[in-house]
Amino acid sequence: MPLQTAKLLKKIDLTNDVIELSFEPNAPFSFQAGQFISIKVVDNPASPVIRGYSISSKPALDSSNFELCIKIVENGRGSNWLNSLKPNDEIQFLGPTGKFVFDETFTGTSLFIATGTGISPLKAMIEDQLLNKNTTRKIHLIFGVRYISGVFYGEIFKNLATKFPNFTYELTISRPEKEDYTGNKGRVTDLLRNQQLDPASTKAYMCGLKEMIVEVSTILDQKGLPKDCVLFEQYD
Ligand SMILES: Cc1cc2nc3c(=O)[nH]c(=O)nc-3n(C[C@H](O)[C@H](O)[C@H](O)COP(=O)(O)OP(=O)(O)OC[C@H]3O[C@@H](n4cnc5c(N)ncnc54)[C@H](O)[C@@H]3O)c2cc1C
Repeated sequence: MPLQTAKLLKKIDLTNDVIELSFEPNAPFSFQAGQFISIKVVDNPASPVIRGYSISSKPALDSSNFELCIKIVENGRGSNWLNSLKPNDEIQFLGPTGKFVFDETFTGTSLFIATGTGISPLKAMIEDQLLNKNTTRKIHLIFGVRYISGVFYGEIFKNLATKFPNFTYELTISRPEKEDYTGNKGRVTDLLRNQQLDPASTKAYMCGLKEMIVEVSTILDQKGLPKDCVLFEQYD
C-alpha cells in the first residue's frame, strides 16, 4: 500500500488535552466510517514511527477531507508531534484500514460505547448513519470521560438526539470536578450495568483502551449478547 499525503487545514483544541485536526488529502481518498489511518510520525526523521488514528468525521459526499480527534498523551511521540503541526504542514499516511465498521445488514439496535477519544470512529459511524444515510435504525450512545472539562462533541450528540428520535445519547463523567454536577456520575460500565438490552436484537460497538473493552465485554457477555454481536476497536 503506497503512502499518501494530506495537508493540515485546521487544528482545534476540543479540551485541554484533546485536539481535532482537519486534513485535505492530496489525492482522492475514500473510507468507510469507523476505519483508521496509519500516520508516519517524523518528529525524528531518522527513526520514524507509525501510529494509528481513527477518522472521526463521516465520509463526506462532496470532498475527501477528513478529521481526526487525538488525545495528547504525556511524552507520547505520535500525539505530541501531531499536536505540533501547523496549517499547511503535510502528513504521510497509509490506509484507510480496519474492519470496525457499521454492520449494514443488522436491523436491530446499535449500542455504541466509548471512552475518551475512543469516540472518534463511533462519531463517524453515527453521523454517517444519521446524516448521510438517514437511517431509521435505533442507535444508543454511551460516552464516558473523566472530567466535566474533558467533555467534547457533547453539543454534536445532543443536537443529533434532538433531531433524530431514533438516536439517544448518555454522557457519564467518572470524576466530576464540580459539586453541583447533576448528570450521570461514574464509568461507562456503571451505566451499562443498569441498561436493559435485548440480546437478540442488539449489536454493540465499543472503542477505547483495553481495560474498558475487557470490562464492557464481560458485562455484555453477562447480559447474554453473543460474541459475534460485539465489535470493538482497541487503542492500546
Ligand atoms: C486502530 C487504532 C486507532 C486509533 N485511533 C486513535 C484516535 O482516533 N485518537 C487517539 O487519540 N488515539 C488513537 N489511537 C492510539 C494512537 O495510535 C496512539 O497509541 C496514541 O496517540 C499514543 O501514541 P503516542 O506516540 O503519542 O504515545 P505512546 O508513547 O506510544 O503511548 C503512550 C501510552 O498512551 C496510551 N494511549 C494510547 N492511546 C490513548 C488514548 N487515545 N487515550 C489515552 N491514552 C492512550 C497507551 O496505553 C500507551 O501506554 C489508535 C490506535 C489504534 C491501534
